[in-house]
Amino acid sequence: MELEKLLRNNIKALKPYSSARDEFSGEAEVFLDANENPFNKPYNRYPDPMQWAVKEKIASIKNIAAEKIFLGNGSDEPIDIVFRAFCEPGVDNVVSIDPTYGMYQVAADINNVEIRKVKLNDDFGFSAQKLLDTANIYTKAIFICSPNNPTANLLDKGEIVKLITGFDGLVVVDEAYIDFSPESSLLPELDEFENLIILQTLSKAWGMAGIRLGMAFAHPEIIRIFNKIKYPYNINILTQKKALQLLDHLQEKEEWVKTIIAERDKMVRKLFKLSFVQVVYPSDANFLLVKMHDARGIYEHLTDQKIIVRDRSKITLCDDCLRITIGSPKENKKLRKALKALV
Ligand SMILES: *Cc1c(COP(=O)(O)O)cnc(C)c1O
Repeated sequence: MELEKLLRNNIKALKPYSSARDEFSGEAEVFLDANENPFNKPYNRYPDPMQWAVKEKIASIKNIAAEKIFLGNGSDEPIDIVFRAFCEPGVDNVVSIDPTYGMYQVAADINNVEIRKVKLNDDFGFSAQKLLDTANIYTKAIFICSPNNPTANLLDKGEIVKLITGFDGLVVVDEAYIDFSPESSLLPELDEFENLIILQTLSKAWGMAGIRLGMAFAHPEIIRIFNKIKYPYNINILTQKKALQLLDHLQEKEEWVKTIIAERDKMVRKLFKLSFVQVVYPSDANFLLVKMHDARGIYEHLTDQKIIVRDRSKITLCDDCLRITIGSPKENKKLRKALKALV
């Protein structure tokens, strides 16, 4: 893969903003270089623009070099940066699957980049060849998501690898739900694939959706390009601090995941027994896609009971489907009680 050839010319030529903290980042006693206010410590100081402390911690947890990590304001930021760095508006395109996470489409639309969607098979599997056939010389990236949202299933790893090795551009694999799945991340194989970008997030298994921290893992050359484009201080002080604290609680995260998976499996068993439930699709994530008679009516009944699930019934291949996040044992019981009242 020739990264230079994929890159937009304006980004190739870009001289990035250089902050005070970029120009001097060592130890010192008196910092008078950033027009900060000397009062109101510690919030008066700009954050580390490269978030090295957080990256080092993630590097040790994930067993990967810190220079292969990009941190964003949620996964939304690296998704958007892929478009801004590589896709010439009105000219280039990306390929993705349908249905999948809605942000790829939104980021494409905002950047005026065509997104070519390939429908999943009826069993929600995908064919690498079909995606490769949909790509043309203007295709800069392929976005896939495994486990996929909203279909909840892992995509076949062999097919994903076929996609990565068979494509000259970038392949983005969104692993937001990987902790809930029996399959392992592609992360240990990152070095084999120069064109692979893996997305993960602190929003799901780690329980930190509120602090907005998304991770992209890729070859250091790709990370360098991301860093060139991002806002200089894209991760604020509060997020960096909180992430450092919470990342020490690996054990707790694993307990949460175990509980959520056990609750998910219990929910599947109970949902099967409800007469209006047609299909509970297999889930490798922290949510269930459930096909039912009168999904919209059930959605409204639940809303009346102050229980909110996601109506996905207008999405490709998801006719009459609700997407139900697995909550706490108490929340899940409440949901089941509200559903049973409908039988
Ligand atoms: C929830 C989710 C994310 C997380 O997005 P953040 O911006 O990191 O909160 C990423 N990808 C998918 C497919 C998701 O469902």
